[in-house]
Amino acid sequence: MAGNWKMNLNHLEAIAHVQKLSFSLNDKDYAAVEVAVLPPFTDLRTVQTLVDGDKLKIKYGAQDLSAHDSGAYTGEISGAMLAKLRCSYVTVGHSERRQYHGEDETIVNAKVKAAFRHELTPILCVGEGLEVRKAGDQVSHTLAQVEGALKDVPAEQARTLVVAYEPVWAIGTGEVATPDDAQEVCGAIRTKLDQLYDPTVADAVRIQYGGSVKSGNIAAIMAQPDVDGALVGGAALDAEEFVRIVRFGD
Ligand code: PEP
Repeated sequence: MAGNWKMNLNHLEAIAHVQKLSFSLNDKDYAAVEVAVLPPFTDLRTVQTLVDGDKLKIKYGAQDLSAHDSGAYTGEISGAMLAKLRCSYVTVGHSERRQYHGEDETIVNAKVKAAFRHELTPILCVGEGLEVRKAGDQVSHTLAQVEGALKDVPAEQARTLVVAYEPVWAIGTGEVATPDDAQEVCGAIRTKLDQLYDPTVADAVRIQYGGSVKSGNIAAIMAQPDVDGALVGGAALDAEEFVRIVRFGD
């Protein structure tokens, strides 16, 4: 269960937020669910200090990385830098990166490879916009994104991947895909991974649903056979609500 904070919570607010999470979450929660936060870059060192200092079981990661490892790329953050901060995860190809920063399949593929080069687990975000959904092409569209992102990625890396199926029309809109909508595409992603690699890779990859997840809808989404977790945006900014989501709404 990963909380994508997007461009919210400065490093001081991050301390309060992570402390609230760690105060509420207990060993039973951590035994059942892996919990991760994805703060802005400027919070990562603070979150690392808190997690290390208090030996917290919360994982953390970044929301993006450069396709390059170092050099003259002003404003970019490399996978090596994130690895040095002991990040576990990095989202790649989030729809907001695709939409506002022109990230195409070539860039997303290069970023997935950059993450793996530095032993970060990419959370590969895929999903269709409203027009594609209306045309009924959500499965073919999303599978093409998966295939493009994994071009020349070997099975031993692919098996550690997380894929987040996030229908763009459901992100931050309050429109949640029905559990059947989520299962249709998440199931197709698993079948695609079997075709691209083998059944062991398809089984090992964790597939998340993302898009207006809340404590009130998480249980029905998690009941789907090919949904292994959720990528949570807006609702992850409220620590108490995020804890309820980690507990599948309880
Ligand atoms: C996201 O940004 O990854 C996301 C799923 O956002 P929200 O939960 O706010 O729809």
